[in-house]
Amino acid sequence: MNLDSQTVMYGVFGDPVSHSKSPLMQNAAFRAAGINAAYAAFRVSPENLAAAVAGIRALGFGGVNVTIPHKVAVMDHLDDIDEDARRIGAVNTVVNRNGRLFGCNTDGIGYVRSLKEETGFAAQGRRVLVLGAGGAARGVAFALSREAPELVVIANRTEEKASLLAESVNRAGTGAHCRAVRLADLASLGERFDLIVNTTSIGMHPNVDEMPVDEDLLDRLVNESATVSDLIYNPPETRLLARAKARGATVHGGLGMFVWQGAVAFEHWTGVPAPVQVMREAVERELERQQKETN
Ligand code: NAP
Repeated sequence: MNLDSQTVMYGVFGDPVSHSKSPLMQNAAFRAAGINAAYAAFRVSPENLAAAVAGIRALGFGGVNVTIPHKVAVMDHLDDIDEDARRIGAVNTVVNRNGRLFGCNTDGIGYVRSLKEETGFAAQGRRVLVLGAGGAARGVAFALSREAPELVVIANRTEEKASLLAESVNRAGTGAHCRAVRLADLASLGERFDLIVNTTSIGMHPNVDEMPVDEDLLDRLVNESATVSDLIYNPPETRLLARAKARGATVHGGLGMFVWQGAVAFEHWTGVPAPVQVMREAVERELERQQKETN
């Protein structure tokens, strides 16, 4: 990559951020698209967030991604916020439009694009179960509810968070009916679903033997020809997905969501279609390299 006086800078603000795969992925995308731009990771502490955002304007950055712990706090420092991001309550992408900073959230839309692309799943008229009600669940629940499902049930350990999310999805008027349930009460629900999405961190490395629902309950929750999806991408196949695959379900791992949230951000910044395959391969290569290093 040749950096010169025309290079437009992008980056990710987070804390910690040194593990981020976004620089590798976005730089591969800029190269493949022939765009003179560069993307780096910036460790920004909460007390420096306002100054860092001012730096986007001052230094003429094209935009940034925002990750933990800044996705909510960054909203106070932007000029415009997309309606969906406001409803979700978090921004993960900032676009610098001639000095005005526009915030949006590409997590949920990235999830749905990845799900459609990799599994062909269409949520219209289908029954969806979202496990978890944290930050990632909010984007996913809103994006799925825009696809005209028959029903969205949100199951969370802390029931209050599930109820708040279900209420805000219902208030958004997408037409989808959304209901909340305590994770511990799922077993007594007696209902089956066409799509189950794990948005909790249960099963993530190093706790790879854990599952958000046990095997028997999973069997009782899925319909014939169901799709089971996990936002976790380390490991690429969680125990939940392995079990679902063994009983004939279509499975969908979290890497695609990561790639597509970056692809949608890239399209907001550049206005050109993202080279999604190049982006995916860049991340897969890095994950394989890390895997070999730990073995
Ligand atoms: P978060 O806001 O902290 O939410 C965590 C969720 O997991 C909450 O619903 C929490 O329930 C639940 N949870 C955690 N430990 C639990 C346990 N032991 N038992 C039951 N429930 C438990 O985190 P997040 O940002 O939403 O991230 C969640 C997961 O999604 C992580 O694994 C993250 O890596 C993944 N993710 C993937 C992508 C991607 O691009 N693929 C993007 C974002 C996130 P309570 O509300 O009861 O605490």
